[in-house]
Amino acid sequence: MTSTIPAPLSDLAAQISKLPGMGPKSAMRVVMTLLRWPEEQTRRLGASISSLRDQLHICRRCGGLSTTDVCPICQDATRSQDILCLVTDWDSMMTMDRGGFYRGQYLILGGLLSPLDNRDSDRLDLNRLEERLAEGQVKELVLALGATLEADNTAIFISELVRKRFPAVRVSRLAQGIPLGGEVRHMDAETLRQSLKYRQEFKS
Ligand SMILES: [Zn+2]
Repeated sequence: MTSTIPAPLSDLAAQISKLPGMGPKSAMRVVMTLLRWPEEQTRRLGASISSLRDQLHICRRCGGLSTTDVCPICQDATRSQDILCLVTDWDSMMTMDRGGFYRGQYLILGGLLSPLDNRDSDRLDLNRLEERLAEGQVKELVLALGATLEADNTAIFISELVRKRFPAVRVSRLAQGIPLGGEVRHMDAETLRQSLKYRQEFKS
């Protein structure tokens, strides 16, 4: 049945179906929508997609996406140079920064180590991290890698590396425990164990 679909349509649908949340049916719906759009609008979308790679750079400081060599966050002179927040990806960096409560630097690690990975995995951007810490400005490294097995594994690996190579840098991690709005009776045992472990003095 697919053979009756003109190749340009089925090719585009096949590519769109690889996008997050898309399957073959929804991809075909997208293609049909694009065909119904005014031609200029469809062409503009195509041009935006093809210029994405040309216009975006990887920031040479944090590894995030930027239209300039160094991104606006890394260029911001009002941000503290003492504290560096290590995140997995650019999405996490954007989410972390959206609240405006963190005013330090960022660095994108580019992935996490799974428990089965070789410990000196080259999937992580460790060179960028080591170069950054070697500059000597960072006093604290905040691990904001999430609360998964992979995040734990990576956090242990990074903290060992930093302790060995940069003993003056303090390593911390985001608190783990009950999320805002959560109720104790709905929490799983591991969340409660972490919440108890990282309990803090109550100040009213
Ligand atoms: Zn940057």
